[in-house]
Amino acid sequence: MMSEQVIIVSTRNKGKVREFAHALAFLGKPVRSMYDYPNVPEVVEDGATFAENARKKAKEAGDLLGQPVLADDSGLCVDRLDGKPGVYSARYAGEHATDEQNNKKLLAELEKLTIGEDTEQPLLSPARFVCCLAYYDPNTGSFVEAEGEVQGWITSEPAGGGGFGYDPLFFLPEYDKTMAELTLEEKQAISHRGRALRKLAEQLGGGI
Ligand code: IMP
Repeated sequence: MMSEQVIIVSTRNKGKVREFAHALAFLGKPVRSMYDYPNVPEVVEDGATFAENARKKAKEAGDLLGQPVLADDSGLCVDRLDGKPGVYSARYAGEHATDEQNNKKLLAELEKLTIGEDTEQPLLSPARFVCCLAYYDPNTGSFVEAEGEVQGWITSEPAGGGGFGYDPLFFLPEYDKTMAELTLEEKQAISHRGRALRKLAEQLGGGI
């Protein structure tokens, strides 16, 4: 498992690619994404859970490439929206929606719920990011999986230019900042993805 010369991550999300490349740099192996393997078709994410989608992404790419593949399925779960957007986080505002469109839709959905409430204060709603990782080895047909979460609050006052996705709306009281205001190192230390990656690396004996 750990003898591979490259680490293949089954994603075309540039934010994720950046985070994986940074987090796995210590292994000294190049991190490849689906941009490096354009012949691998886009995975239909029809799983009911993050874990199911992560396994599917890892298996389809791994079987096609004949090499171990790491996949991430992740998203935002907002309490007041009954856990939405959840597995639909990437396409909340529609297929191929941009991060800006998804963020706008999220705030619009939350604002609908606050009609009649005192909206003088910035809206804050409890939420969590969830990340499920699946590492699949087509040579053995085996999966190693890990999950990570981070709790925060959705703020109606977006801030920060870092990260990706819903990061500008994800407020962390302990930092008095949004996730998009953290450095890559700070995000990695507390994020759902960072936590899941550390658990996965532990299961794989320290490496990937
Ligand atoms: P996936 O590629 O289907 O796993 O979709 C993940 C989506 O969840 C992204 O497009 C973002 O909208 C959201 N998401 C996942 N992780 C993060 C993160 O670390 N920050 C912000 N948004 C995230």
